[in-house]
Amino acid sequence: MTNTKPSLYDYTLQELSRIVTPSFRTKQIYGWLYHQYAQDFNAMKNIPKTLKEQLIQTYIINPLKIVRKEESSDGTIKYLFELQDGKTVEAVWLKMKEDKYTICVSTQVGCKVGCAFCLTAKGGFTRDLTAGEIVAQVVSLKHDNNHPHNKKINIVYMGMGEPLDNLDNLTKAIEIFQEKDGLAIGGKRQTVSTSGLSNKIDALGKMDLGVHIAISLHAVDDELRTELIPMNKAHNIHSIIEAVKRFPIDTRKRVMFEYLVIKNKNDDLGSAKKLIKLLSGIKAKVNLIYFNPYPGTAYQRPSYEDMRNFQEYLIQHGLLATIRDSKGIDISAACGQLKEKTKNKLKD
Ligand code: SAH
Ligand code: SF4
Repeated sequence: MTNTKPSLYDYTLQELSRIVTPSFRTKQIYGWLYHQYAQDFNAMKNIPKTLKEQLIQTYIINPLKIVRKEESSDGTIKYLFELQDGKTVEAVWLKMKEDKYTICVSTQVGCKVGCAFCLTAKGGFTRDLTAGEIVAQVVSLKHDNNHPHNKKINIVYMGMGEPLDNLDNLTKAIEIFQEKDGLAIGGKRQTVSTSGLSNKIDALGKMDLGVHIAISLHAVDDELRTELIPMNKAHNIHSIIEAVKRFPIDTRKRVMFEYLVIKNKNDDLGSAKKLIKLLSGIKAKVNLIYFNPYPGTAYQRPSYEDMRNFQEYLIQHGLLATIRDSKGIDISAACGQLKEKTKNKLKD
C-alpha cells in the first residue's frame, strides 16, 4: 500500500481552523475546496506560497480518482472511483426532473449486512470510507458536471455499504456538507438509507442533524425479512418501527420505506395488506423497487402488472406509494454492478 496522506475534505471548518490560521485563511481554503473545486494546491492563488508548501507536505486534496464513467441515455452517470489504497467504490449522478440532480454516494467498501439480494454483499466487507472519501464523491461529481457550488443538489446515502454501520464518518460528512462556507447542503437535502440498525437509527436521531431517513424494509414478516436481511434477527421489524417513531422528523415530511419487490416472494396483495397495517400511525411513503437481477441470483424481477397492482392496493388504502423508476438501467442498474463489470473487464 502506498503512503497515504489525510485529505482536506476530512475536516469541518472548525477543525481546519486548527490547521490553518487566521480564520479568514481557513475560509479562503474552504472556498477553494468547495466553491472552486480546486484539485491542486497550486491553483489556490491568494494563499501564501509557504502555507501551500506546508499543506502539500502533509495533506492531499482529493483522495479519489475516477477510473470509469458510464453515461445512460436518461442522463444518469455512474462513476467508479479508486481510493488511495486501490480499493474501488461507486457513486451515481442522477438527473431528476428538469434541471434537478441527486447524487447517490457510497459509505463503505463492501458491506457487512450481507443481504441475500444485494450484489455489494457478495464481495463481503473491506472497510469503512473516511468522511473525506464520502465528501470527495460529491465534490468530484459536482466538479465533473460543472455544477456550481450554490446550485441546489440532493444527496442520498444509497450507494455501496450500510451508512449507519459507519456512523461517525457518515455524520462527520453530513456536517461537512452542511458548512455554510462550503457546499451548504442542508440536512433536509440529505437522505440516509438504512437496512434498519435500530439502535443506530436512535443514535442518528439524537444528533438532530435534520436529515431524512429511508428504511429498507423489503418484507412485512420477520421470517422473510431475516432470509433477505440476516441481521433482522438482531433488529427485527418491530424494533425498526419503534425507532422510526422516535426519530425526529420534519412534520411536513414523510419517512420513506423502501420495499424491494421480488417475484413470488413479497409481491402478493396479502403482503400489501400487512404493509398497510404495519405502517399505520406513521407518516410514511412507500417506494417500491423492482428487484434488479444479476447473474447467479435465485431471485426474480416482478411483473409490471403485479407491481402496479401492489401500488394500487396501497394507494387505495390511503398509503402514499411510488414505483422507483430504474434510472440508468441501460448502463448497469443496481448498486455494485458497475464495479462487478469493471472487475470482469480487468480480468480479461
Ligand atoms: N445499505 C443501505 C443503503 C445502500 S443499498 C440500505 O440497504 O438501505 C441501497 C438500496 O439498493 C437499498 O434499498 C437496497 O435494497 C437496494 N438494492 C440492493 N440490491 C438491489 C437489487 N439487486 N435490485 C434492486 N435494488 C437493490
Ligand atoms: Fe448492505 Fe444495503 Fe446491500 Fe444490504 S442492501 S448488503 S445493507 S448495501
